[in-house]
Amino acid sequence: MNKLKSKMIIIIAIMTIITTGCNISAINTANPKDNIEENEDENQEKENDLEDSDKSEDKEDEKKDNEKEEEKQVKEIDLQKVKPNEAGQVMVLMYHSIGEPEGQFRRTPDNFRKDLKILYEKGYRPISLEDYVTGNITTEAGYTPIVLTFDDGWQDNFNLIETKNNKTKIDPDCAVAILEEFNKKHPDFPLEATFFVNMYPFGQQKYIKEKLKYIVDKGMDIGNHTINHANFSKANITKIQKELSGIVKMVNNNIDYNVNTLSLPFGERPDNKDLYKYLESGEYEGTEYKNIAILNVGWDPDKSPYHNKFNRHSIHRIRASDLEKYVQGVGMYDWMKHFETGARTKYISDGNSDIVTVPKGFEDVIDDDKIKNKNLRVYTIKK
Ligand SMILES: [Zn+2]
Repeated sequence: MNKLKSKMIIIIAIMTIITTGCNISAINTANPKDNIEENEDENQEKENDLEDSDKSEDKEDEKKDNEKEEEKQVKEIDLQKVKPNEAGQVMVLMYHSIGEPEGQFRRTPDNFRKDLKILYEKGYRPISLEDYVTGNITTEAGYTPIVLTFDDGWQDNFNLIETKNNKTKIDPDCAVAILEEFNKKHPDFPLEATFFVNMYPFGQQKYIKEKLKYIVDKGMDIGNHTINHANFSKANITKIQKELSGIVKMVNNNIDYNVNTLSLPFGERPDNKDLYKYLESGEYEGTEYKNIAILNVGWDPDKSPYHNKFNRHSIHRIRASDLEKYVQGVGMYDWMKHFETGARTKYISDGNSDIVTVPKGFEDVIDDDKIKNKNLRVYTIKK
């Protein structure tokens, strides 16, 4: 009975996304009726598929396996306890320098440690920017993904201290060391962060290769912040392509790594919207680039990557600070409070990257194209 129930839930969920998808496309087509009928045919086909599989032995086995798999996934968590909501919002946190003294673009090492501790205690867990925008969210059930970003490639993001005999050690107060130290103490707080760099990242150019390699080897990421920290508002096509391909070239001159994310200096886009596409991809003197995520300077959490209004080419960020003078009511501590009071809804993972789980009422905002081949699971929170 339970098996049947869980199967039904998944079928209902699939039907729901198909219906939702059709409502969305209906708005965008000249002849909505055609579109709806087409989708109904698809539904019929899906039902037929299920019936057909009863007739074939091979398919029967396959089906049993699938059922077992589904059963396992459904059993994995107690929905009423975990209350996953994968339509909720995600904080993409923006840091710059990690050093003294605290300022608008600088967080002290101790304050950065405090941020990590509080994020950890309140159930936030880092994921990579790529996993966020592609919806590959593997965050443990009941926890909330966050994305950590650092702009400008400050030396205090990754500083090496020279010791005797031409050796170096990592400065324990730089961002990389603090992140690693925290991850060592709390292995369930993944070592994920993106460092958005300009032409000469992290000072100490003689260690550039070593530093870039270290970051990537540890599973963290390097992002594009343009060669010259360029303001793109008045930039032309050539300027944009030169600035963006330059970072790809610099990184690839040092290590084999695909730079595929961009944080816009000053959060500035070209005034001419026709040029936006060159932020996404382009080429200059034989070096190509393609950005799967473009980050703004921002003030609020962004949407679930499965949300129909999520735009991976315009991602909001939040200042990671608690200094009111700089965050003005829209810093990361403010948003954590709004999540706690329920003024905003945060993303809560179901722990399964193959299923998108939302409480009833949220299924309408889930975009079929964005969840791709994942199953949508809708459940009712019992009072
Ligand atoms: Zn910057």
